Amino acid sequence: MRYLILSDIHANWEALDAVLEAAQKEGFDQIVCCGDLVGYGADPNAVTDWVRSTASFVVRGNHDKACVGLENLDWFNPVAKTSALWTASVLREENVEYLRKLPKGPARVSDFQILHGSPVDEDEYLMQAGEVAQLAGYLDTRLSFFGHTHVQGGFIFQNSGLVKRVQGVARKFDHEELILDPEVYYLINPGSVGQPRDSDPRAAWCVYYPQDRRIMYRRVAYDIKGAQTKIRAAQLPDLLARRLWAGH
Ligand code: ZN
Repeated sequence: MRYLILSDIHANWEALDAVLEAAQKEGFDQIVCCGDLVGYGADPNAVTDWVRSTASFVVRGNHDKACVGLENLDWFNPVAKTSALWTASVLREENVEYLRKLPKGPARVSDFQILHGSPVDEDEYLMQAGEVAQLAGYLDTRLSFFGHTHVQGGFIFQNSGLVKRVQGVARKFDHEELILDPEVYYLINPGSVGQPRDSDPRAAWCVYYPQDRRIMYRRVAYDIKGAQTKIRAAQLPDLLARRLWAGH
């Protein structure tokens, strides 16, 4: 079994398309998504249609909630709020229903679990190793995949109790491998497909190979201009187009 792990697609069809083309060359068996299918980007229906028909396991993200009326938009910054309202106005009914019913993480998948923010709060950002160290007792599996921060990499819980950061793919490469130690806990972020914020504008994802206890982090360049043109045509805030180039 090979799991394609996606997160934070954010209605970016161009990025998703490039990820699938690259991922299909290497092959995968099941698709897993850690939330935020929609919000920010201009293709919420195409992305939700695709996830709805192909992904085996999905948990909801804060933007999925916001775009279908499950979240108070007062918590969102003005740009996120504008995009949530626009998304709500264009989402087809079957996609609204699908997003509304998405489960809250963590959700168990085979020997790992998926979640959006943190194991204790789906809306919490896991940025610092110090914050993550307190979560060891809340992890039901040695391996968890999360999203929300849009930063590829994650955290390793060492046997000493210390938490170490794991980096994703460096700028000059397109992949980075991580071999999992069965004695250690891992919180792995595949990175964001549709709006990376780790200063690398390339679409991010990872593939998990349980048989050889291996994770392959991946990056691929995509048609950023195409995604930007659609964001501008939808009259979404221009910042949402500009930040795709910047990668943060
Ligand atoms: Zn997100």
